[in-house]
Parts: sequence; C-alpha cells; structure tokens
Amino acid sequence: MQIPTAVPNLGGNEAAYLLDCIASTFVSSVGPYVKRFETAIAALSGTPDAAVVSSGTVALQMALQALGVGAGDLVLVPSLTFIATANAVRHSGAEVWLIDSDPELWSIDLDLCRERIIAETEPVPGGRRHRATGRMLKAIMPVMIMGSSLDFAALAALGRDFGLKIVVDAAAAIGAHHRQGAGCVPIGAAGVDAVCYSFNGNKTITCGGGGAVAAADAALIDRIRHMTTTGRVGRDYDHDIVAYNFRMTNVQAAIGVAQLEQLDGFLRRKREIRDHYARLAGRYPCLAAFPEPPHGTNTCWFSGFFYKGDRLGLCDDFRAHMNAAGVDLRRFWKPVHLQLPYAGAPATAMPCAGALWPRIFPLPCSTHLAAADLAHVTDAAAAFWDRAVD
Ligand SMILES: *Cc1c(COP(=O)(O)O)cnc(C)c1O
Repeated sequence: MQIPTAVPNLGGNEAAYLLDCIASTFVSSVGPYVKRFETAIAALSGTPDAAVVSSGTVALQMALQALGVGAGDLVLVPSLTFIATANAVRHSGAEVWLIDSDPELWSIDLDLCRERIIAETEPVPGGRRHRATGRMLKAIMPVMIMGSSLDFAALAALGRDFGLKIVVDAAAAIGAHHRQGAGCVPIGAAGVDAVCYSFNGNKTITCGGGGAVAAADAALIDRIRHMTTTGRVGRDYDHDIVAYNFRMTNVQAAIGVAQLEQLDGFLRRKREIRDHYARLAGRYPCLAAFPEPPHGTNTCWFSGFFYKGDRLGLCDDFRAHMNAAGVDLRRFWKPVHLQLPYAGAPATAMPCAGALWPRIFPLPCSTHLAAADLAHVTDAAAAFWDRAVD
C-alpha cells in the first residue's frame, strides 16, 4: 500500500447523515441536504445562491451555457489544467483558445490573454471575432491552480475591456478569498460571473462526486437549476427546453454537508502540509515550493514542490524513488495542448506550461495524513535530493 496523494477524510457526521437519508427514504434528488448544501456553498462563496450538480465538469459546462456561450464561440482557457476544464467548453459547443501559464503564479497568463486578444481578434457587432477561426470570443475560464487565488482585479478588467463572461474553475478552491483593500472577499463576490467547484474524491471536500456553481446573479443560478433538472415547469410533465439530468442527490449532498462542517480544520491541515513541503524544498537550490498567490488566499489543495533545473531525467528518477519508498507520486496534469482531442485548438506558444508540468511533484496531502507518514514522505524525498545535489 502506497501513501496516496489525496483521499477523502470522512471522520465527521458523514455516516450519521447518510443513515438519516436512508431512514427518511430521501436518497434521490429531492431532500433537505441538497438545499442545506446549496445554502452553505453560497454563503462560503459570498453569493446569494448556488446550484449543486453531478460533477465539477458539468458545473463548468452549465455555467457557460447559462451565460449564453455555445456553438461558434471561443473561450480562453489555460493549457495547464485538468482536461475537464477544456471538456466543459467543448461540451457547451464552444472551442477552447489555449493560453500559456503565468511563470510566477502558474495560472492563466492574463497579460498574454490581453496581448493575443488585441493581436488576433477584431471588434464586430456583438463582440470580438477571432480572425483565424471566425469564432466569437465570449468568455474566459481561469483555473485556480492548486486552489490558489487569482488576480481577480486584472481578470475583471480583462472581462470589462473585451466584453467577456468570466467563469472561474475553482474546482479545488473551496473556501478561497480574494484580497480587496485591507480585507478579503469570497471569490464569488470578486467581480466574476460564476465560480464552479468539484466535489470529486480527491478535492478538499468531497461528496463522492459532485459539483456546484455559485454566482452573484441569482437568476443565473435559477437558470442552471432549470437546465440541470430536465427543464420541468410545474408538477406535471411539462418541459420548456431540451435540458439535462445533472442533479446532485440528497445522498451526495449529505456527505457534502458533513464535509463542509469540517472545512476550517481541513484548510488548516492543508496549510500545515504545504508549509512542511515548502520547508523541505527550501533546503535545495534546485527545488521550490508551489507559488503563493499575492492576490488572496491559497487553499493549498495539492502540496509539494517543483524542480527548477534542466535534468528532466532526474524528475523521472525521483518519481520512481518515491514509488519504491511507498509514496504515490505521479506526473502532474499534462497540458491540454498536448492532448489528442485538442491538437487542433487555437493555442499560444507554451514555454511556461510546457516546462512546468513534468517538474511538478504533487506529494501526499490528505487532511488526515498521519504525522508519521508525512515524516516518511519527507525523509524519502530528502534521501533522494541529498544525493542528487552531491
Ligand atoms: C477536478 C477538477 C475538475 C473536474 O471536476 P469533476 O468533479 O471531476 O468533474 C475540473 N477542473 C479542475 C481544475 C479540477 O481539478
């Protein structure tokens, strides 16, 4: 058994709430936990309402479609992300425009977005057209990589200047805040159209599977609820749109409610683990901790360090060394521009994303990771890098 990267911590009221679902027979999409979970997600996001759905991918797709993004459109997306970000755009009918990462923050390079928009699009009635593809540039979908905050002020300015909808892939960033003046605001109140979460098993909180959209515009959330629940009008079988069944069940929401009760403790433990690996990385000139965002909180979904040197073979050796020492360590996300289904998508040059992904080491960071296991991971890593820098 290897020490896993990130697995669910179900030590709270999960079992009690699940038993309650079964005793009450509310195991499907109707039930009190769905509403409770939505209310709690909205409060955390700083929004009047939130809609829970069956996955994070679907949350992103529904947010885009509810904002009017679809066939013939183009959406700015970072190449360094989990492929689901791009898949959500394709499922909406739109195409991705893949953008390189910011070298400091690792998230989508907003200056590069601005530069390419000016160079490659032109104003036409109804928005801006991308010359090479003829598509209308409608939205930007930045990703809060590792759960760390974005420059929401620069993002909002980009959206305003070019008429873009802003849908934030906050899949792994539940609980994140944006710095504003002397204080902080939750990310849903930071001037964006929607923030989307995932509750997949490896995220900071899980429902087994699931997702949510939070938005400042309550009408947008109503629209998403309608789209994800078969477009039903009233109690009878009347439906006014070709809709989806993307609902979350009361069983999933029950787990989610129990998980959210523990969020503060989870985030504290994630931060401790992050700082632990940052201290380890600080001992070696060729390593560095994952970036800390200057614009807001880092929810430290994944922790570890990255390799700054040129000996890429060393990265493969390190992974093999850790695996042999009983630590699950795999490659990080392969960027979208290198994935078969997106080979033809418009894309910038990718010096940053291309260099980063093989050098990133996501180390075990489950919130209930035992102190002894954390020490074992650290010792095993140190044993490798002590030799490697000799
Ligand atoms: C997990 C994740 C998703 C997808 O969420 P699912 O619930 O697995 O569909 C999307 N984007 C990012 C960045 C993720 O980490």
